[in-house]
Amino acid sequence: PDELPALRVENVDVTYGRAVSALRSVSLTVPHGAVVALLGANGAGKTTLLRAVSGTLRLHRGAITAGRVRYGGTVLDGRDPVAAVRAGVVQVPEGRRVFAGLSVDENLRSGGLGLGRRGRVQVQEARDRVFALFPRLAERTHQAAGLLSGGEQQMLAIGRALMAAPRLLLLDEPSLGLAPQMVHRIAEVIREINAQGTAVLLVEQNAGMALSLADHAHVLEVGETRLSGPAAELARTDAVRRLYLGES
Ligand code: ATP
Repeated sequence: PDELPALRVENVDVTYGRAVSALRSVSLTVPHGAVVALLGANGAGKTTLLRAVSGTLRLHRGAITAGRVRYGGTVLDGRDPVAAVRAGVVQVPEGRRVFAGLSVDENLRSGGLGLGRRGRVQVQEARDRVFALFPRLAERTHQAAGLLSGGEQQMLAIGRALMAAPRLLLLDEPSLGLAPQMVHRIAEVIREINAQGTAVLLVEQNAGMALSLADHAHVLEVGETRLSGPAAELARTDAVRRLYLGES
């Protein structure tokens, strides 16, 4: 099991610009094949942690100022998104950002960029896997992404990330703004992606959904880890039930 790659975030500090401290000494591990949930209020630093892993912090004027991010044997802190994608780590950004003017197919093809030259067969196979997971996208290959429903756009955003054949998928609030039925469908898809061998680090406001999927969970509070543990255990703690599961 030692040679199977895990994500290790160790005592990471992140700062935006000169003054904004967004994360302080945050550590977490995503073992090979696991689902780990990251919970916390708005502004707690969840998105920042995903950016620190995917190499996209710099695009937001942020930087890791202490600590270490590794995926298997690859050091990811201080690297760019292409390095992360090559290592097998791909982020689905919040807000289902798809290229509205491009077709479903063009959006998917953009997901393999940065991997170097891949053969037509490899791209075709990746696309077939995405279509098997999201039959709705297969029916709409030539439609402009901007004309899809919110749920379909989220599926496309996930599908585009899967085109890079990630071993670790970073998901930022996939259920945000979706109807309950679609949230349920997204949860099923995450389960299926994980069953096919991809580890998932899942940021969610929907704590119920996240804890039902996750093996392990962490609660961030203003840039620091407040609670960590097996998801089933966290779901039973008073703080999580009151603050994140809406119980009194
Ligand atoms: P949300 O659910 O609202 O995205 P979050 O837990 O993901 O919340 P982050 O977006 O990571 O939180 O934000 C953590 C802190 O960093 C907040 O104080 C936020 O204002 C700040 N922050 C985030 N992005 C930037 C940026 N580009 N420049 C400056 N500060 C930022």
